Amino acid sequence: MTVTGMVLTASPVKEYDKRIELLTRERGRISAFVQGARKQNSVLSASAIPFTFGTYRLYEGRSSYNVQSAEIKIYFQEIAEDFQGLCYASYFAELVRYFTRENVEAPGELTLLYITLKAITRKQVSWPLIRTVYEMRLMQLEGEALELFACIKCGRKDMTRNVYLSQGGLVCRECADKNARLRREPPQTLSQDALYTLQVILSRPVEKLYSFRVSPEIEQELAAFMKAYLKQYIHQEFKSLEFLT
Ligand SMILES: [Zn+2]
Repeated sequence: MTVTGMVLTASPVKEYDKRIELLTRERGRISAFVQGARKQNSVLSASAIPFTFGTYRLYEGRSSYNVQSAEIKIYFQEIAEDFQGLCYASYFAELVRYFTRENVEAPGELTLLYITLKAITRKQVSWPLIRTVYEMRLMQLEGEALELFACIKCGRKDMTRNVYLSQGGLVCRECADKNARLRREPPQTLSQDALYTLQVILSRPVEKLYSFRVSPEIEQELAAFMKAYLKQYIHQEFKSLEFLT
């Protein structure tokens, strides 16, 4: 079996081997053994390093896959050389692990992660903004996108910038007033610029996701908003987040 994928995690097994988790286009997130990966001069050692991207030939063993050979396209070596960058990349890997599993193909997730790691190494967009973009698009891929273009109740556009996370998007004043629950729920009120930025993030083609910037104030506003948004939908603590403020 041949798959295209990226190494999300790698851990040592026995004296010389490694167990890796691969995010693959064809088979979703799978784990595989890489025999001899920790031996010096092993041809497979490079294929078992986190964030390595390439084509992997696998054969099925008794309880898991084994890597037979790999054709590596990119290592993302620069990421390992910068602690902050590594923290972000590790968080992105952890977040996509949360949403993916074996035998559910993940082409969108793989492309998003690949493009995002490229953006980390390119350093043209700040890492906090990269994080907002990545989180937003991943939530969209997983069917948890917010409605940020029109009131989710009446469909009218340009009526409000109030997001009700319990409802999954914008709700205009009129609709919120009609609903007993929403009258008690404090909305997340976005600034015009922040709302526009999120709309851009949701509608751009993936290869153009990291080609704009925003002011530090908007960056901060978006980061706080994303925190509340993800908290509403994801009930898990991510270890890698301890290193990111
Ligand atoms: Zn409405």
